[in-house]
Amino acid sequence: MKYDSILKVIRERFGAKEGEFVPLHAPTFAGNEKKYLEECIDTTFVSSVGAFVDRFEKDMAEFTGAKRAVVCVNGTNALHIALLLAGVKRGDEVLTQSLSFIATCNAISYIGAHPVFIDVDMDTMGLSPKALRDWLKVHSYKDEAGELRNRKTDRRIKAVVPMHTFGHPCRIDEIADICREYGLELVEDAAESIGSYYKGQHTGTFGKIGAISFNGNKTITTGGGGMLLFNDEKLADEAKHLTTQAKLPSRWEFIHDEVGYNYRMPNINAALGCAQLEQIDRFLESKRKTAEVYKRFFADGPEGVKFMEEPEGSRSNYWLNAIMLPSREERDEFLQFSNDNGVMTRPVWELMWRLPMFEDCERDSQTNTIELADRLVNLPSSVVSSE
Ligand SMILES: *Cc1c(COP(=O)(O)O)cnc(C)c1O
Repeated sequence: MKYDSILKVIRERFGAKEGEFVPLHAPTFAGNEKKYLEECIDTTFVSSVGAFVDRFEKDMAEFTGAKRAVVCVNGTNALHIALLLAGVKRGDEVLTQSLSFIATCNAISYIGAHPVFIDVDMDTMGLSPKALRDWLKVHSYKDEAGELRNRKTDRRIKAVVPMHTFGHPCRIDEIADICREYGLELVEDAAESIGSYYKGQHTGTFGKIGAISFNGNKTITTGGGGMLLFNDEKLADEAKHLTTQAKLPSRWEFIHDEVGYNYRMPNINAALGCAQLEQIDRFLESKRKTAEVYKRFFADGPEGVKFMEEPEGSRSNYWLNAIMLPSREERDEFLQFSNDNGVMTRPVWELMWRLPMFEDCERDSQTNTIELADRLVNLPSSVVSSE
């Protein structure tokens, strides 16, 4: 098969013999994970109170350069809280990309808001500032109250949610400029992009709020978990309040001043997070090495197969490496061949407007989105734990 050489380079990189299964992204536990978990059990602080939660928030703020970080139970509800704090209300519209994991649109839907799908750029695979501007120019107007509205639906357009696809930063500074110009809130779905920087600044810190995920398949994991990033202290305090049942501080009374959420990450998950974050530099280095191996191979590899490199001006965590096959048919052929031969590869997610819940949502031409969805495949990208 003409793609034999790809499987060979993958097996070599991950030290897998012929017939041994290579997963897409497996977690690595090689530091203080056990020690910190034992500490939780020995002290009985396994749940909603504990020192690891506070430490993980501090460590994450320091690592990303955000002013504050607030834990959540997972990335999906981090996005939910982020949208609530950005002021998104029932009936509003939120501009986002349909090339994303379902969580982005689910979070918008929990509020009763409507996603509108804007095209992505071919190189970043993330929301295209040009497509965003084009859509806004044609489809939006300011009403007398100064609210931005959709000409067709007359709904208020409140926020933009770009996603840093597979860890590659999108053109977030241009998107931030457009948001400022139009008075839109910017919420970054940085679920996949811990350790990714755009022009030296960590992803998730460009807008009002950023959301990160620590699911088991992400670059570092807490089992399940998420984190909100803020540059605004007051907003971070509100997030803390909202994610802890909106309970007012008191020594023994149970007073809550609004409908809140039980979205706080338990201490055992945060313990895992602290231990994982201690190793992130090494993880990122190993992932870059893998990307380098792929890049070199595909520079001279099977004809028509393109490796998706980190976009100019950015430093990607290369969470999931991706290649672009010449056509959907060849993509399917490669998926079949690699998965039949014990190497796990995956296409991108089904585009959101092809799912029944979002088929009626507004969208632009989606030219690049469709092209990428037809041709992209993710390759194994785990940290090589011996490194
Ligand atoms: C992983 C992910 C999330 C959040 O996922 P959780 O599993 O809830 O932590 C959100 N958006 C994208 C794009 C993701 O890849």
